[in-house]
Amino acid sequence: MQDEVMRAIRSARRPVVVFDVDSTLVSTAGRHLAILRAFAEGRPALRELAARLAPEDFGWTVDAPVRARMDLDPETASALQAFWADAFFSDRFLAHDRPVPGAVDFVRRVHGAGAWVVYLTARAADRMGARTAETLVSMGFPVVEGRATLHLKPSADTSDHGHKASALAEAAWLGEVVATFENEPANANLFARSFPEGLHVLVGSLCSPGAPDPDPTVLRVDGFA
Ligand SMILES: [Mg+2]
Repeated sequence: MQDEVMRAIRSARRPVVVFDVDSTLVSTAGRHLAILRAFAEGRPALRELAARLAPEDFGWTVDAPVRARMDLDPETASALQAFWADAFFSDRFLAHDRPVPGAVDFVRRVHGAGAWVVYLTARAADRMGARTAETLVSMGFPVVEGRATLHLKPSADTSDHGHKASALAEAAWLGEVVATFENEPANANLFARSFPEGLHVLVGSLCSPGAPDPDPTVLRVDGFA
């Protein structure tokens, strides 16, 4: 897949490559764990369990690794969900995110080959904007070197899918969208329909419940390593 993308970049006059951030380039598992540990303060049984968990134990939800190991009463479960939702979609725990293995090197190769890199994320600018750029830079992703755009959702009220649909038009102003990378099949399918000539890649296996099947033209990869 990587060689195919590099060939497409070299054959386009003004190549653009679009990357989703969360669960595509960046693993949020450490963010889940840090949020769970903060919630567990003052709750001894949960605190003891959270201390034993590792980022690898987390997938799409914060509570699944807990439920697999102890009973969660409905009151605690809904308090955890509310605490998580407020914390996860803020910049308070972003320092616990880690790049997906191989992602930084690959994005740097894409950028180094002359592509314009667009980070197209559903993170909301008003709640996560400031620290998103900072953490991407600290991980080593090209952000401030030129030919890179960070496209956040204007506010938390905008729908993720609607945001990505409107942002694609802006990505196309920059040049030819030769490749896109996503973990959500609905978005990968949208990209494939919008840029039928491009390579569209579904990364990993984490996606929201009830996601549609990926379009047959969408390539699937486990990661970038
Ligand atoms: Mg994502």
